[in-house]
Amino acid sequence: MEKVFAYFNHLPLGGIKYFNQIGSTMNEAATWLEDNAPDFALVIANEQTEGRGRLGRKWFTPPNSALAFSLILRHHSTEPPHRGTLFSGLAAVSICEALEQHYDLKPQIKWPNDILLSEKKAGGILVEAHWQGNKLNGIVIGVGINVAPSSVPPISAVLFPAISVEECLPSSPRSSTQRIDRYQLLAWILERILFWRNQIHTPHFKQSWEARLAYKNQRVQIFQDIAAQTNPIPLMEGILIGITENGSLLIRNDQNELQEIWSGEVSLRLQ
Ligand code: ATP
Repeated sequence: MEKVFAYFNHLPLGGIKYFNQIGSTMNEAATWLEDNAPDFALVIANEQTEGRGRLGRKWFTPPNSALAFSLILRHHSTEPPHRGTLFSGLAAVSICEALEQHYDLKPQIKWPNDILLSEKKAGGILVEAHWQGNKLNGIVIGVGINVAPSSVPPISAVLFPAISVEECLPSSPRSSTQRIDRYQLLAWILERILFWRNQIHTPHFKQSWEARLAYKNQRVQIFQDIAAQTNPIPLMEGILIGITENGSLLIRNDQNELQEIWSGEVSLRLQ
């Protein structure tokens, strides 16, 4: 465990909890937040038995092969009102930059919360806001990344094709020297989150997010609760134009009108 903590010595973390196995890092972080967790406190798990995605969907985190963590951000009084999607973007841009800078990969962000490599899902982000009455107590950003091939769920368990980071490394994924150090990757992601955290309302951040958006200028469909439908019918179709400064998605529909999708609970698919 101390070995895991050593990766984060240089970072201003409010605290770290590491679990070899846990139900969900999101639940642990929520409990910690209620218990007055410090800002930038981190929950890491080697394995999650009840990892969560959006809308109560399952997130698969088998042992020794994936990165699973939840990061607690306490509300800074100087920050403008929060939009959950902006925090998905904060994690997504940070993950992409870590993968680009240290592994020479070309990740993309499938709005609002997925990290794609080779057009398949290598990571997912879940953001939960915690309120005490009408006061925002904090935000928890949960991240799951498939690092080794054994972390990839079976095809029958996913709605969208999945892949691991190691399978996408520029040379042979089977070489033992090429195993990615999960916690080194996490330290690099946290460095980028620290860099961007106070800039999520800036044009620079929006540009960095937009530059990595999957399906830009392509025809896409937007679905609501895709998992619950056998033959899902799209809510909307059109060309993906980009995002707004609030992190909403911009689609140009067939009437040539720009439509803004603000809900982080929809699913995006290439048509
Ligand atoms: P989409 O928007 O494409 O429908 P999603 O972003 O809504 O997907 P989430 O709800 O965030 O997906 O994540 C849960 C879903 O992700 C699960 O229903 C399953 O299909 C898929 N999934 C679960 N674990 C993994 C994993 N380790 N790697 C890739 N996909 C996974």
